[in-house]
Amino acid sequence: MSYLAKNYNRKKIAFVKGKGSYLFSTNGKKYLDFVQGIAVNSLGHAHSKLVKTINGQSKKLWHVSNAFQIPEGEKLAKKLCKKTFADYVIFQNSGAEATEAAIKVARRYFYSIGKPNKNRILCIKNSFHGRTIATIFASGSKKMTEGFGPKVPGFDHIDFKDYKPRFPNLKNKIKKNTAAIMVETIMGEGGIKPIPVKCLKYLRNICNKKKILLILDEVQCGIGRTGDFFAFENSKVKPDIVPIAKGIGGGFPIGAVLMNKKVASGMTPGTHGSTFGGNPLAMAVGNTVMDIVSSNKFLNNVKRISKYFLINLTKIKEKYPNVIKEIRGRGLLIGIQLYNNQTKFIKKLMDNRLLAIRAAENVVRILPPLNVKKNEIDRALKIINKVCSEIN
Ligand SMILES: *Cc1c(COP(=O)(O)O)cnc(C)c1O
Repeated sequence: MSYLAKNYNRKKIAFVKGKGSYLFSTNGKKYLDFVQGIAVNSLGHAHSKLVKTINGQSKKLWHVSNAFQIPEGEKLAKKLCKKTFADYVIFQNSGAEATEAAIKVARRYFYSIGKPNKNRILCIKNSFHGRTIATIFASGSKKMTEGFGPKVPGFDHIDFKDYKPRFPNLKNKIKKNTAAIMVETIMGEGGIKPIPVKCLKYLRNICNKKKILLILDEVQCGIGRTGDFFAFENSKVKPDIVPIAKGIGGGFPIGAVLMNKKVASGMTPGTHGSTFGGNPLAMAVGNTVMDIVSSNKFLNNVKRISKYFLINLTKIKEKYPNVIKEIRGRGLLIGIQLYNNQTKFIKKLMDNRLLAIRAAENVVRILPPLNVKKNEIDRALKIINKVCSEIN
């Protein structure tokens, strides 16, 4: 009997410890963990530097109110701004809070320049921005919003298929009261679907023309996951607002919204806040993750190992063209799209001690830690190949 509400469909397995890319279950089995808390443990389990940081900080100071200066947060915000497009940061605790804060920043900006009616956010239908009341209606997915009405107003939707190649319907969807377009640079839950570079550029252009804001949700695809610090970097597009979370805490809950100077001008004292957001313990961990993940050497290594992984996954796809439809994604945000439902495939991977997780469109999502070793990739490839041969 479990006293936890039944809102998750949990697998019947629990873990006692983790080390790097591996998890050890309560019944003594060792698993290669290519879920990593869904792109959260960017440096794997129990990374020595993170353990040292959290031990050290835990003896000094855990939490103080945002009524006071928090030097650890100042440091992390500075690092994030120096590394990216951003001029200012607000810290939160999760991805949904970060995307909500992004929406607030966009609306508040137009309010602050005397255009309070410019407040609608245009999103991709069935995208994913979190599970709060506002963010489920931002996604607009029936599955997530059903039973949670009344509908939160202020969101409009475009279909992802409209994105290719020239967004035929986008212009009609931008109205006088549209404040921003918000999209995931790579749709994660939606099945590892990157928005093509051309389309990102088009989005930026149309936002400039219509004088609206571009919000790129990098909660899943950011913080080195693609081999660039942000997934949008290879497009040279500069967003106005970027929510982040998952990877930046390396397993400690941290969210943040990054913004440029223009939009930050609306966020005057009292406009937003969070009790826990940006506390010294979280910020200490975030600083250590950032120091490691933001280095070019580290990011280049993500690119290198990703290339090796993707080339070999493609070989498996060619060997089993009736099983695998497409290999998707970038960096270490990888989707294996199957022809059939992925549940059995994931179960078989697990029987062979490889953990992966589903995404929409029959996709098996593969999210190794960013410091994964080549021999661990080889091990995963072997298991994936074996499962393909069994399913074939
Ligand atoms: C996971 C995710 C969120 C929500 O993050 P939570 O921490 O679960 O609230 C938002 N946007 C994207 C793109 C995500 O992948």
